[in-house]
Amino acid sequence: MDSFDRRISYLRLSVTDRCDFRCQYCMAETMEFLPRTQVLTIEELVRTARLFTELGVRKIRVTGGEPLIRRGVDELFTGLGNLPGLETLALTTNGSQLAAQAPQLREAGVNSVNISLDSLDPSRFHAITRIGYLDAVMRGIDAAIAAGFERIRLNAVILEGLNRDEVLSLTRFAIDKNIHIAFIEEMPLGQVNVGGKALAYVSSDELKAELEQHFELHALNSQANAGPSRDFLIAGTRTEVGFISPHSHNFCAQCNRLRISAEGRLLMCLGNEESIDLRGLLRSGCSDEDIKTTIMDSLSIKPERHNFDRTDQPQIVRFMNATGG
Ligand code: SAM
Ligand code: SF4
Repeated sequence: MDSFDRRISYLRLSVTDRCDFRCQYCMAETMEFLPRTQVLTIEELVRTARLFTELGVRKIRVTGGEPLIRRGVDELFTGLGNLPGLETLALTTNGSQLAAQAPQLREAGVNSVNISLDSLDPSRFHAITRIGYLDAVMRGIDAAIAAGFERIRLNAVILEGLNRDEVLSLTRFAIDKNIHIAFIEEMPLGQVNVGGKALAYVSSDELKAELEQHFELHALNSQANAGPSRDFLIAGTRTEVGFISPHSHNFCAQCNRLRISAEGRLLMCLGNEESIDLRGLLRSGCSDEDIKTTIMDSLSIKPERHNFDRTDQPQIVRFMNATGG
């Protein structure tokens, strides 16, 4: 069987839709989560990951919901870490459990960790996450640094009226810690509304212009492996700053990633509805070869552009915790 086109070498695997936070831009205040039987089991997740690596996927990012609150998470990472052919095992986490789990994750083979951090102010952090505590995340960041992951990056979603004034301080924090940072434009997948006031997204270009008043930024991406993040080295530091711009730079044409939702749907794109029910295939006794053939066939429906549009209401109301960002 042919392996994937070089473009599709990266899989984002959502391992739960549940979370110990309720970030304003990601979840409603009260959420109904999937019944557990509808979420892929640890065995199904590892099998799925194996099939994708056999097809040529070289990088898997585990996401959620919050992956580190998933029961069986040790077994999951051990299984993924043992997959032949996998070059990068990455994790996106809110950091709340990292203080306890960072050493085991490194041991299991996780190379790269993204930690979400939208504010350095404890009360603002608590307001954004509704129930999260900044000090636990700070301890998690330090534990990740101590565990020696090859790459650690902070992710910040910046919204006018929420944390627009922290772009510089968050960047300086990343520089002090010798880690990377990325600023993400908010995607209209849920409702973003604090105290009845809609929050406005801020474009990456605005944020980049602001940082350029303080730092010299050197572009890093080569066209060949351009993903949705445009990355720059901050001159005189080892910190890279990335700008992830689903609105202002519609990036589907360069996108090299596939996503699997917590319930086992293979999504071609966050902004489109096309998907394949992998869970159904996994639970219906299909052979590895049959599932791989279906996956290869499904790639023909991967779109060239997504449909986000700032002027409309969100076209797709599918909260981020279900799709993994
Ligand atoms: N719980 C983990 C975390 O927060 O890092 C992993 C899952 S979370 C859905 C993955 C990423 O998606 C986080 O960096 C988060 O900030 C981002 N995210 C969530 N909702 C978003 C939205 N509406 N627009 C842009 N990014 C969003
Ligand atoms: Fe949870 Fe991550 Fe969504 Fe925040 S962004 S609610 S931490 S899944």
